[in-house]
Amino acid sequence: MALALRSKLPYVGTTIFTVMGKLAQEHGAINLGQGFPDFPVDGKLIALVDQAMQAGHNQYAPMAGLPALREAIAAKVQRLYGFGYDPDAEVTVTAGGTQAIFTALAAVVHPGDEVVIVDPAYDCYAPAVELFGGKPVHVPLGSDMKFDAEAVGNAITPRTRLLMVNTPHNPAGTILRDADMHAIAALLRGTGILLLSDEVYEHLVYDGEAHASAIRHPELRGRAFIIFSFGKVFHATGWKTGYALAPKELMGEFRKVHQYNVFSVHTPVQHALAAYLQDPAHYESVPAFYQAKRDRFAKGLAGSRFKLLPCEGSYFQTADYGAISTADDLAFATRLTREHGVAAIPLSPFYKQPPAGQRLLRFCFAKQDSTLDAAIEKLCKI
Ligand code: GLN
Repeated sequence: MALALRSKLPYVGTTIFTVMGKLAQEHGAINLGQGFPDFPVDGKLIALVDQAMQAGHNQYAPMAGLPALREAIAAKVQRLYGFGYDPDAEVTVTAGGTQAIFTALAAVVHPGDEVVIVDPAYDCYAPAVELFGGKPVHVPLGSDMKFDAEAVGNAITPRTRLLMVNTPHNPAGTILRDADMHAIAALLRGTGILLLSDEVYEHLVYDGEAHASAIRHPELRGRAFIIFSFGKVFHATGWKTGYALAPKELMGEFRKVHQYNVFSVHTPVQHALAAYLQDPAHYESVPAFYQAKRDRFAKGLAGSRFKLLPCEGSYFQTADYGAISTADDLAFATRLTREHGVAAIPLSPFYKQPPAGQRLLRFCFAKQDSTLDAAIEKLCKI
């Protein structure tokens, strides 16, 4: 009998990260596609996970996260952004940023609700909204990939339930600044619209800029789910551990979903992170570490035919290949992998409707210097 299967995501295929990763592997290409470091996690952190396992911390953690880790998160947030979330009621440890985003949307989006998404946008946003019956409303970033508050304001209607923002931005590599956060606060003032602020690259902000977290703005944090990732900070994307912050009322709804879709997160890793977070140097050293990689990559490509867009944050460098080819970005990224041995991510999958004639690729520079140098050599020959 035919299965009466009606896809809930008819337009969705396999993510571009998986597609490009597979292609890179098939062709033995240097993989600057999917965002993940190719260098090891700090041995001290690994030893802490081992210790936790040896000490018998191998059963379910409490649903909202290990209390010691929630307290360490609240202390870190207080130290960095000057606001104290209540670790009992307002901090939840999640299985990474994506799960936190999914859970937040599941908790508050009702069928027919509009969710404003700024394109380019991380690939899971729109499908997650749609799965819960919401309607993604796509607004383009302005010129130079900067946030355009006026365009976002024009997209807001009485049906808008939530606005999603992302800083530092994946894939654009731009950041929101205080002025942008004030503009967002002005847009949302007097409405019941919620904010989801995806800040998973919070520590990857360069050139002495401060991370303009929504936490710093009372009006914003009062209506926001703010999402973070330990994978990005501690070079362990495969650990799939992050956290969400939200005021008590919102977090209560979040946890109703969280308890059924993951229940709780890997216990030994939570013990390890709680101890590791005690030393702020472990995260405060991250911006300089990645800024050096950004600069190495940019300097190396200065003599190439790629034109680099400003990278203010994240570990992604976007580059315009318009001087090399008029092919569309997926075709060019495929050719780059197959024929030139470097995999990157085309930007069009991050849009509902990519701008006509845009020729942009995203390169991940979270790589050992030797990997970056080898990629630079290949890219400069094109
Ligand atoms: N966040 C990673 C990136 O942007 C991808 C993670 C994934 O493959 N879903 O490259």
